Amino acid sequence: MDFLRPGSLAEALAMKAERPDAVPIAGGTDVMVELNFDVRRPAALLDLTRVAELSEWDTDDGAIRIGAGVPYTRIITELGARLPGLAMAARTVGSPQIRNRGTVGGNLGSASPAGDAHPPLLAGQGVVEIASVRGSRTLPAEEFFLGPKRSALDPDELVTAVLVPMAPGPQQFAKVGTRNAMVIAVCSFAVAIDPGRRAVGTGIGSAGPTPLRAPAAEAFAAAEMAGRWESRAPLPDTVLGRFGELVGAAARPIDDVRGTAAYRRHALSVLARRTLAWAWRDYCSGGWS
Ligand SMILES: Cc1cc2nc3c(=O)[nH]c(=O)nc-3n(C[C@H](O)[C@H](O)[C@H](O)COP(=O)(O)OP(=O)(O)OC[C@H]3O[C@@H](n4cnc5c(N)ncnc54)[C@H](O)[C@@H]3O)c2cc1C
Repeated sequence: MDFLRPGSLAEALAMKAERPDAVPIAGGTDVMVELNFDVRRPAALLDLTRVAELSEWDTDDGAIRIGAGVPYTRIITELGARLPGLAMAARTVGSPQIRNRGTVGGNLGSASPAGDAHPPLLAGQGVVEIASVRGSRTLPAEEFFLGPKRSALDPDELVTAVLVPMAPGPQQFAKVGTRNAMVIAVCSFAVAIDPGRRAVGTGIGSAGPTPLRAPAAEAFAAAEMAGRWESRAPLPDTVLGRFGELVGAAARPIDDVRGTAAYRRHALSVLARRTLAWAWRDYCSGGWS
């Protein structure tokens, strides 16, 4: 197996163009599991850990640009206040060791429907930045996923960053697993309230072939909030319940070893109802203008 060690992004892209079969490795928390279990035996690995351009985050016109190689631990400690939804999801990933190594770029690269970073990216209008020697392009996060473990990346492309608008309002994330830590989600849900746009964003994880949004639930919640933005009146239980039902209906789950489709729909409805209630309560408490 060849081990390619670029020292810059330009070098990494040139190597990927020359060796499209090379498997990128960032934190290695997915790649090394696959190698150890002999799931795949790539002809080459492309080590991204020395590519400084991928390991930083910055602000970019109201958005945070997070380099693909920034580990979860830094998202939690450095971006928790600006991207609370993504930070909440990051806190649920694996263990401290996995969070020290694992990256959002790697989560996207694996394109698992269960990836915990994905629902908050969908809910918070995240955009994936992709590059190759041919140039760079951006895709809304929801368009990045094509199917289970399939993404829109071409063989010569790398994820270079995600761009996520700084949270304009309260965000929440919740996940159901078979225990409290070190689990792949049975299902997960993220919600983001945007008081400026008078909008609500959603992201469903582990309950479909790709991470999904729930557009009918988003429209319903925004309509119900329309008369309440100024008064900050509570959302009735009937509204929260209907929002949950619409989220459950938007899921496309399957029965598998982690849970049945029916359980996932039910659990998602509960998660959606709770997280919207928490987010709206945060908004009403006056912390957000
Ligand atoms: C014990 C354990 C617990 C885990 N728990 C969770 C969890 O709770 N939630 C969760 O979501 N995940 C979990 N994971 C999976 C994993 O940690 C995450 O998917 C993590 O985000 C992967 O990031 P990484 O940097 O380690 O990726 P890597 O393993 O380095 O790469 C993952 C994939 O992405 C590709 N890739 C990496 N970087 C790029 C790039 N810049 N451009 C294009 N492709 C790229 C690689 O080629 C590979 O296909 C767990 C894994 C383990 C081993």
